[in-house]
Parts: sequence; structure tokens; C-alpha cells
Amino acid sequence: MLTCQQLTELVTEYLENRLSFTDRLRFRMHVGMCRHCRAYIDQMRQTVRTLGRLPAEEIPPEVRDALLVQFRNWKRQ
Ligand SMILES: [Zn+2]
Repeated sequence: MLTCQQLTELVTEYLENRLSFTDRLRFRMHVGMCRHCRAYIDQMRQTVRTLGRLPAEEIPPEVRDALLVQFRNWKRQ
């Protein structure tokens, strides 16, 4: 069983389909049982969707990183 901390570390890989089958399964199990992480992932998806509407080259890496940091902090609050 993943902890919430581990889940936040895997979330980008999950959204980019880079998790192994087992990790994906563990990830989904946690999300299914943890409403905090469910909210967190909804938030992440929303951001990915927003960013997805922009051509990739228009997202500076520092903006992307800043967003990820922001989400990690948000989860800790
Ligand atoms: Zn959780």
C-alpha cells in the first residue's frame, strides 16, 4: 500500500503513463481509498489539461517545475 507521500511522488509518472503495471495498480488502489489524494489528482489533471492546451514548447520548464512544487506544498497543508 502506497503512502500519500509516495503517491504524490508518483503522480507525474502516473499522468504521463510512465508507471509500471504494478505501480499503476497500487496507485489506483490508494486513490480509490483516499479522498485527499483523489482531490489532489483531480487538481493535477486539471492543470495537465490546461497545460495540454498550450503547445509544449510554450511551457517553460521552470513554470512546470514551479507548478509541481506548488502542488506538493498544497498537499502538505
Ligand atoms: Zn492518500
